[in-house]
Amino acid sequence: MASTQVRTLDQISVSRLKGVGAAMQQKLEKLGLESLQDLLFHLPIRYQDRTRVVPIGQLRPGDEAVIQGQLISCDVQLGRRRSLRCKLRDASGGVALRFFHFSAAQKNNLKPGMTLRCFGEARVGSSGLELYHPEYRAVEDDAFEPTEQQLTPIYPATEGLTQPRIRGLCEQALAIMEQQGGLPEWLPESLHQQFDLSDLTSAVRYLHHPPVGTDLLQLSESRHPAQRRLAFEELLAHQLSLVRLRRQQQQHAAPGLPPGGTLTQQFLAQLPFQLTGAQHRVWQEVASDLSQPLPMLRLVQGDVGSGKTVVAALAALQAIEAGYQAAVMAPTEILAEQHMLNFSNWLEPLGIQLDWLTGRLKGKKRTEALARIADGTARVVVGTHALFQDEVQFHNLGAVVVDEQHRFGVHQRLALREKGRASGLVPHQLIMTATPIPRTLTMSAYADLDCSVIDELPPGRTPVNTVLIADERRAEVVERVRAACREGRQAYWVCTLIEESEVLECQAAEVTAQELTEALPELRIGLVHGRMKATEKAAVMDAFKGRELDLLVATTVIEVGVDVPNASLMIIENPERLGLAQLHQLRGRVGRGSVASHCVLMYHKPLSQQGRERLQVMRETNDGFRIAEKDLELRGPGEVLGTRQTGMMQFRIADLDRDGDLLEGVKAAAAQVELLPQNCDGIIRRWLAQGEQYGSV
Ligand code: ADP
Ligand code: MG
Repeated sequence: MASTQVRTLDQISVSRLKGVGAAMQQKLEKLGLESLQDLLFHLPIRYQDRTRVVPIGQLRPGDEAVIQGQLISCDVQLGRRRSLRCKLRDASGGVALRFFHFSAAQKNNLKPGMTLRCFGEARVGSSGLELYHPEYRAVEDDAFEPTEQQLTPIYPATEGLTQPRIRGLCEQALAIMEQQGGLPEWLPESLHQQFDLSDLTSAVRYLHHPPVGTDLLQLSESRHPAQRRLAFEELLAHQLSLVRLRRQQQQHAAPGLPPGGTLTQQFLAQLPFQLTGAQHRVWQEVASDLSQPLPMLRLVQGDVGSGKTVVAALAALQAIEAGYQAAVMAPTEILAEQHMLNFSNWLEPLGIQLDWLTGRLKGKKRTEALARIADGTARVVVGTHALFQDEVQFHNLGAVVVDEQHRFGVHQRLALREKGRASGLVPHQLIMTATPIPRTLTMSAYADLDCSVIDELPPGRTPVNTVLIADERRAEVVERVRAACREGRQAYWVCTLIEESEVLECQAAEVTAQELTEALPELRIGLVHGRMKATEKAAVMDAFKGRELDLLVATTVIEVGVDVPNASLMIIENPERLGLAQLHQLRGRVGRGSVASHCVLMYHKPLSQQGRERLQVMRETNDGFRIAEKDLELRGPGEVLGTRQTGMMQFRIADLDRDGDLLEGVKAAAAQVELLPQNCDGIIRRWLAQGEQYGSV
């Protein structure tokens, strides 16, 4: 183990290396390379095999190889592009070297008869197999010319940082690592045995310099044990930091909220339906958490329409009955409005005072709302993230419900916790997501949460039939709408976001509504978009619910909220612009009644390969979990979690898709390492540059 006197590799700046001045340091910084340890974990993206000379006759297109042969001819070819072509041959066959950029001196130095040692990639060119711009040098014909002893690493680089330079820097870092007796090993021996892991230092050494005979295919697929060793430790670091976060959370006290009061009974009695089995089970899990004097941190996953809101209301009621306030936070104004509507319908009859707070609430109304929140008159407060600004002071916040958590990150979760501090108690947190989170992610990004799943839809739903139609066939689609409405059904026509611009999206919806009104004069058509006043929106929605409208043209605002069982047809324009999760949400607006519903994805040609694949998934399944998994596979966890920008869950080496199978082991390992504080610290510090951030809040 490193002595405390010697600075560890993560504390030594790259500027200490030979040849690293201010300019070079900046370039390295661009690649995230600040310390020697960063360099050691800057692994090659691939390797070249320069360890042996390949007979020319064995070259195949795509091979990268060292060859050696006699120069037969060397001439300038004038074709579409002027080039220098040199023919080379050895005992096994011939090949051409091709240079599109060359100097006169270069040409003059290449004399037929000489022997050349070359390195390059073989391709099929105009004269058979050719090497474009190979590296080459003249060698003595029969003198012994050594080849490289190890595979040659190719590193991720950046403008102005050549391979030889970065290779040299990694060499220096490796040499210092060896001088220090290797990297500190934080994984206990027992784990090495249990999971058959090599030691970290050998893994790092190996990956920078794989010996002759290494399985390059395995390396290129990142399945080599040395790569897996590093990925394992990195995943473990994330896991440990989340576990630690959770422990810290549990050092705080929360109000124990006794379950099963009379308001709860009344609420259930007045609901127009019975809870599904899944809702009941999840509610019980939540209720039991809430009754403990430890802060709950629970994620409820449930597909669109599975009825999460009722569970949220039950949680809020438990807080209210115990004399505490509850807050409900949504990511958008519209979703917050919808919750406000639901909660007031359910809770006002029980005599519960609700309040409402978003960024749009201004002036006197805002001041008054803030006052009611602060003195405790407001029992339930519904709003957007505006709820968690400093000026908002709760009287005694007992529970927080956060909807659509995947749009918030770990840090927001921590900020929420702070809101209960006034009373010295931390509020319970219930986090709801309609986008099912694939298992690999619940085991990593969400490892600090307990999880409940509402895996059952309320009775009477019929699966939505989804079709893909190119927008050239718009006229047919319009006819379809006409036919459906003639039969007394209602339909949605959704216009999607154009380049992230709400204004443009609304304009597009206005134009579409106009066109459809002309094409379908016999239908009653309404329009709703995000830039309308809340009251205007509500009026249109009400009209649609009340069957005063046949067709509702909308922007993606209807993603959430509306619930009209008689609507059985949805047209989505340019679905290729949306994420799968969002499409799934939108589609969840139909299929709420007992008649068969249809969703038309009216895409714009040409679709990319990925675009086509994604829409196919929508056609093939109504299962939110499968859709989420596919989304993860196609777009990667950063996109799916929406955290690419925030830098959360960025791995240097691990890849959740590729290394997801390690997570079971990582979880088990975390339980053991957690008991060894020094090792735990060491691992977290090594891998999480922002480790302090996770820990300090
Ligand atoms: P989501 O999980 O997508 O948020 P909601 O909570 O909005 O789902 O519920 C969708 C619809 O299903 C709402 O109209 C709600 O009133 C209704 N609902 C919820 N639970 C049940 C149930 N157990 N039986 C019948 N309808 C239900
Ligand atoms: Mg919902």
